[in-house]
Amino acid sequence: MSGFEEVNYYFRKAARIMDLTAHVERMLVTPYREVKVDVSVTLDDGQLGTFIGYRVQHDNSRGPMKGGLRYHPTVDLDEALGLASLMTWKTAVANLPFGGAKGGITVDPATLSPHELERLTRKFVERIHDIIGPQTDIPAPDVNTNAQVMAWIMDEYSKYHGFSPAVVTGKPVDLFGSKGREEATGRGVVLALEEYLKDAGGGEIRGKTFAVQGFGNVGSWTCRFIDERGGRVVAVGDAKGAIKSPEGLDVSRLVAHAAKTGSVVGFAGADAISNDQLLAEAVDVLVPAALGGVITEANAKDVRAGIVLEAANAPTTPRADEVLTARGVTILPDIWVNAGGVTVSYFEWVQNVQRFSWEVDRVNAELARHVREAYATLARVVRERKVSFRTAAFIVAIGRVGRATVLRGV
Ligand code: NAD
Repeated sequence: MSGFEEVNYYFRKAARIMDLTAHVERMLVTPYREVKVDVSVTLDDGQLGTFIGYRVQHDNSRGPMKGGLRYHPTVDLDEALGLASLMTWKTAVANLPFGGAKGGITVDPATLSPHELERLTRKFVERIHDIIGPQTDIPAPDVNTNAQVMAWIMDEYSKYHGFSPAVVTGKPVDLFGSKGREEATGRGVVLALEEYLKDAGGGEIRGKTFAVQGFGNVGSWTCRFIDERGGRVVAVGDAKGAIKSPEGLDVSRLVAHAAKTGSVVGFAGADAISNDQLLAEAVDVLVPAALGGVITEANAKDVRAGIVLEAANAPTTPRADEVLTARGVTILPDIWVNAGGVTVSYFEWVQNVQRFSWEVDRVNAELARHVREAYATLARVVRERKVSFRTAAFIVAIGRVGRATVLRGV
């Protein structure tokens, strides 16, 4: 299945339970707009670098479309389609007044200098500035993009449309970014787990063991919040490899090591393992926090964790989802678990639109409230309909997006 088909598989599973008509179903899965642009730029050595950029806008029935920009060699139209649709369902689960979008550039940014990266980003904005905007489509960081990239986007967009901080979120705090946005996704991931554990009688994070794949923004902040609550992070991986320490890794030292060397690999006192071994670690909670499609039909049988906490987008394929569910593994799904990022992005947008700034305590308190309220709704649907958390999340999201679509008139 392609990424888009995978999301639509989950969508249809929920839609069947909801008795949606075929017409409404088709309308809800069909993207609003797909854009593919040439973003060729001159490289530092004078050569021409040719790159392709994408922006898929999936649905805007509940508000401006919202979703990240990814710079990675795997970026293509299908990946953007799948992730854009996932954003529609995610913003609806979190009950934010946004729709869904996603995009990016097919590039390995590690091969570019900072100046090349800036030129590439500005060229991309030149190509898409007329279809994004504070009331239409608001990009944000994703894999290999960060606050600096968002600052360039804001600056370039403002050249065409006047000063527009609300066109993009995840900006540096000095440039009207929100306090608390940097760590928001990881914070939301850990708050989501806490809500579930409280409700399911699963105790607390303290004393539980974790394996985390990905040590970028989401993975590293997730590890820090687990550590803060007394959880034991025993294995961590990134694109270069993985490491393990049964007594628990010293997370703050690991953060410093990764910042210095660019990877978790080589961390003193830890054993090297493969990313495949990481997924099969005997831990309480497995946290995929890197790319999508990593838990597959082939390796799902090896997963020994009792809970899969989906910090990454679409980390579990539909077949793997079935295998894990049949084995009694609880999957806490991406469209709820990692919504902390887009939730604080929403707060950032609100602050920008109001030309106002919130203190970090207010950001964190509002985030916690959103996570709690979303969980209460999901848990009720899980109990009433006797479905998985993922199907419940899709049921809630489809209901909200479907009602908005119908009320606005087709
Ligand atoms: P990032 O670029 O900061 O970090 C990505 C991490 O994944 C890095 O540690 C990288 O080394 C690792 N990685 C890449 N390829 C890998 C591979 N083949 N095997 C193992 N590790 C690999 O990106 P991020 O922002 O942390 O995003 C991670 C995931 O979380 C993505 O799925 C993204 O869509 C999702 N997400 C991000 C946010 C956000 O606010 N940044 C919000 C919601 C969801």
